[in-house]
Amino acid sequence: SPVIVWFRRDLRLSDQAALVEAAAKGPVVPVYVLDDETAKHRAMGGASRWWLHHSLESLGAGLEEKGSRLILRRGRCEDVLPALAKEVGASEVHALRHYEPWWRNAEKAVGKALTLHLHHGNYLAPPGSVTTGAGQPYKIFTPFWRALHERLPPPDPLYRPHTIAAPESWPESEALDDWGLLPTRPDWAGGLRDFWTPGEEGAKARLKTFAEKASRYEGQRNLPARNGTSFLSPHLHFGEISPAQVWHATSSAGGSVATFLSEIGWRDYAQNVILQYPDYGGTSAREGFDDFPWRSGGQAQEDLEAWQQGRTGYPIVDAGMRELWHTGWMHNRVRMITASFLIKHLLIDWREGEKWFWDTLVDADYASNAVNWQWNAGSGVDSNMFVRIMAPLSQSEKFDAAGYIRQWVPELADLPAGEIHDPSPMARPKGYPQRLIEHRAGRERALGAWEQFKGE
Ligand code: FAD
Repeated sequence: SPVIVWFRRDLRLSDQAALVEAAAKGPVVPVYVLDDETAKHRAMGGASRWWLHHSLESLGAGLEEKGSRLILRRGRCEDVLPALAKEVGASEVHALRHYEPWWRNAEKAVGKALTLHLHHGNYLAPPGSVTTGAGQPYKIFTPFWRALHERLPPPDPLYRPHTIAAPESWPESEALDDWGLLPTRPDWAGGLRDFWTPGEEGAKARLKTFAEKASRYEGQRNLPARNGTSFLSPHLHFGEISPAQVWHATSSAGGSVATFLSEIGWRDYAQNVILQYPDYGGTSAREGFDDFPWRSGGQAQEDLEAWQQGRTGYPIVDAGMRELWHTGWMHNRVRMITASFLIKHLLIDWREGEKWFWDTLVDADYASNAVNWQWNAGSGVDSNMFVRIMAPLSQSEKFDAAGYIRQWVPELADLPAGEIHDPSPMARPKGYPQRLIEHRAGRERALGAWEQFKGE
């Protein structure tokens, strides 16, 4: 009888342990279930849905080349999969294991109804398996990475199956175009289309380009005007490429590739954190921090919107927020600057920023997003201190963001180098806003709120 392969954030044919195992057993029915009910308020945001549409198209085409198909269904996985299994006479489901709390619940429910085989493959080491000598999970990145590093390299990637046998008859599939994953009007996805090629081939192309410069990562990674990072994050998030493939393609590059590999380690670390704290995306790990004296409503709401739209009057912040809106991605250094600005200068709850990123990033990832927001807020298990407040102007100068600002804030493009990071009120072109708050005033307000929080 056929075996079902349940695809989720593992939309690839190579190094896909569930597919390899299933294909070795007999006919395969590959399925993707669009399940917003199980994820509830964590259903994918707009940019992710755009990506998903194209990635499913690519996966479907790849399966067809192998004589197979991708069956699309909508509904709760725990209902859809048993129904599909009955329809095709399948007794087993194979899938890669996922760690978002809603996926863990769904795996439990599906496992009660069917024989579910869960495989490892989306992380360098199975999350939860890297522990201290006493068998405890790590809370802090550095010792986690040290312990994980000892277990590396990851196993060699698995080849894509030579053939994937088809079942005697194919079950019905819904039509991808009926799922409404793409924006209709306004069509905000033009920048995404220009910038990205979702799917396994697009992922491999990015990896190949990056592998050639991986040795120079350290010197380039913090400069937003250079394309010094890999741009692999959405491909890794959707599992179009595995971290083992990335590791084996880059680790011998020499130079500063070790720094790059430790960033892949942060990705594993984030999963390790949500396994310990499933609510990490919505609850601060630091006791009482969700009752911090945040600003909200009225002027704060307007400030939040100005931040979202890239109208804060701080060029580096505005450049980042516009890059995000336009491409669905933002440079890591600028993610830190914009996050710090929202939380500290505007004194707005980090969870508002997390939500915006969730909706607009093509790499929106429950664990990585939460871990990084809590790191910047100073509320996480391993994090920066709240009182370390990034100065947008000096960050912009230090990381040489002039070219980046010129690209994303075109109304400032003609300003001379001396003015571009922090144009004086007189130099601001018409239409470019004044600062929402002066740096010094913002800093003092944040430190005051911190004192108040500590005193409570
Ligand atoms: P590279 O520098 O080439 O790094 C290679 C890979 O390592 C990335 O693709 C990513 O998978 C992983 N990685 C790198 N840095 C981190 C990190 N700090 N934490 C976890 N993994 C990392 N990354 C996401 O994938 N999804 C998110 O939702 C996300 N939200 C973020 C929110 C904030 C406020 C901040 C400061 C960072 C966030 N990051 C997130 C981390 C990081 O910014 C992106 O992974 C990185 O910019 C992606 O670009 P790249 O693929 O070129 O990265």
